[in-house]
Amino acid sequence: MAVNSFNRVRISRTALKHNYNTIVKAVGPARPVMAMVKADAYGHGMVESSRAFAEAGCRYFGVAELVEGVRLRTAGLAGDIYVTLGFPKNSAGLLLDHRLTPVIYSVEQARALSLAAIRRGQGVVGVHLKIDTGMGRLGILPKDVPGFLSQLAGVDRIEVRGVMSHFPMADVPQASNTMEAMARFDDVCRELRNGSHLIRHIANSGGVINFPATHCDMVRAGIALYGYDPAGIPLPAGISSQLRPALSCVTRILQVKTLPAGSGISYGHTYITPRPMTIGVIPMGYEDGFDRALSNKGEVLVHGNRAPVVGRVCMNMTMIDLSGAEDAKPGDEVVVLGRQQLEEITADDIADRIDSISYEVLCRLGNNNERDYIE
Ligand SMILES: *Cc1c(COP(=O)(O)O)cnc(C)c1O
Repeated sequence: MAVNSFNRVRISRTALKHNYNTIVKAVGPARPVMAMVKADAYGHGMVESSRAFAEAGCRYFGVAELVEGVRLRTAGLAGDIYVTLGFPKNSAGLLLDHRLTPVIYSVEQARALSLAAIRRGQGVVGVHLKIDTGMGRLGILPKDVPGFLSQLAGVDRIEVRGVMSHFPMADVPQASNTMEAMARFDDVCRELRNGSHLIRHIANSGGVINFPATHCDMVRAGIALYGYDPAGIPLPAGISSQLRPALSCVTRILQVKTLPAGSGISYGHTYITPRPMTIGVIPMGYEDGFDRALSNKGEVLVHGNRAPVVGRVCMNMTMIDLSGAEDAKPGDEVVVLGRQQLEEITADDIADRIDSISYEVLCRLGNNNERDYIE
């Protein structure tokens, strides 16, 4: 019989599909929603999550690296899979073999794809261009687009089928940055179009939620698919209030003990019991994605009550104050992320305490614990 870890991550397939459908409704039937499933679907499991989105009708998937695209295709996923970070030298052929969609930002990448296509006796390769409209990250700068295009014209069998960019602050509805970037993107699209049809896509979850004018021909949703607003605060009126967190994380109490007043807890004795206290030990530490910055700061749920973290978070263990659940015993369920009775801890709650964002909290808990899929 297989032995399971105490720590479990639960993913609701229903929540994933609900979030996909919510986004589809928000952007309208004419525009595909690309499911961004990089980083193992933000901790939700790339293959399983992609299958759930596919069951809900999704036909477009986005990954960061080529290996992820290969893994997805090998798992049997149909549809278009966009590889957004480029590919290692000499691996262009793999992209073609697995019918992945390359996003390129250099002529060298186009040449490598062209060569691979010629070697395979393959026809035209469709590519998407990545433009840096102000993110200050990956992509061709608008001023370099004309030079890029004239070089690309000399590359055999490469056809630009789409153009994409990315917003740095679409999670802030009042920031003027987004529509300024959008205007730069429109300029580049006009330059590129010259009669042919291009798939233009720039909106991330922030664009989907806050800026309908950026939806273009397709949107790329990440965090919203997993149930969170990129800004961390669901706006009551917007679609983010309809999203449902899909991931929860639970563990079990290992030991319960009563310590006298004045007892030091965990490494460095950063917590000293001010009175006799009931302390629980849980098998969840920074190795499991429970951030060490939650030392003396975090909370978990036991018997429907909040139990504060006391002392330093260790590699595999953390101590919690069971004053609110004195009758807790070894084996009782502890919710690290998610709902228990009337209480809930969200990825945003954890992120607020450690100066991070829901994205990182989900990736770390999700990718470092065993996952169970539920409906
Ligand atoms: C991750 C990613 C997205 C999704 O961003 P969210 O804020 O999670 O919606 C969109 N586009 C690109 C290129 C990405 O890398």
